[in-house]
Amino acid sequence: MDSHAVRLRMVQKLAGQGVSDPIVLGAMGAIERHRFVDSALVNQAYEDTSLPIGLGQTISKPGVVSRMIELLRNGTAGRLGRVLEIGTGCGYQAAVLSLVADEVYSIERLRGLHDKARENLRHLRLPNVHLLFGDGMEGFVKGAPYAGIIAAAGGEAVPQAWVDQLAEGGRLVAPVVTGGGTQALLVLDKTPQGVRQSLLEAVHFVPLKSGIG
Ligand code: SAH
Repeated sequence: MDSHAVRLRMVQKLAGQGVSDPIVLGAMGAIERHRFVDSALVNQAYEDTSLPIGLGQTISKPGVVSRMIELLRNGTAGRLGRVLEIGTGCGYQAAVLSLVADEVYSIERLRGLHDKARENLRHLRLPNVHLLFGDGMEGFVKGAPYAGIIAAAGGEAVPQAWVDQLAEGGRLVAPVVTGGGTQALLVLDKTPQGVRQSLLEAVHFVPLKSGIG
């Protein structure tokens, strides 16, 4: 498929939805999302929809990926420093993050998806992406402190480990369960005066689960 033109159209749509950070739009235009989904789903790869990636999990919608990474970057002029992603899934968002941050640590609790992400990312040769297998609710202390933490799965609350591993001046973006079992995007800034949080729009993510599987 001539994915370049299709991807450009996707990026134009993202910009139309309000994503304006040129580094984020550039990264969304550069990473070939169709390489991260099953061959049967390739023709839907650039639609703004989540798609199954196996083991009951999904690749997030491009609209949500770009929105969350824009929030994570918070207007930073150049690249972010070290970033932690919880929920590698198929590795798509990790690849996008590799273009906007110096180092990306991405952790997945399902072995099958961790392996799939490794396979998907192999041909891209992204030396700044570090794929980890484990329970992301504990964060990854060896990479801390992080300029940014981004979660692709939603829990009842943000684990304290994530807040602890966030650098001062850093930002965390995660879906959290609000009333009635719905989820909303939480943005948490760690400032010298303490933690500042805001709840934004409703989102739909797979649940954050503890332990490995
Ligand atoms: N960013 C991914 C989205 C994957 S869906 C992509 O681009 O494809 C979210 C993923 O979070 C699922 O694969 C799920 O297994 C994983 N997950 C849920 N709870 C987790 C935890 N505690 N630690 C690590 N990964 C977790």
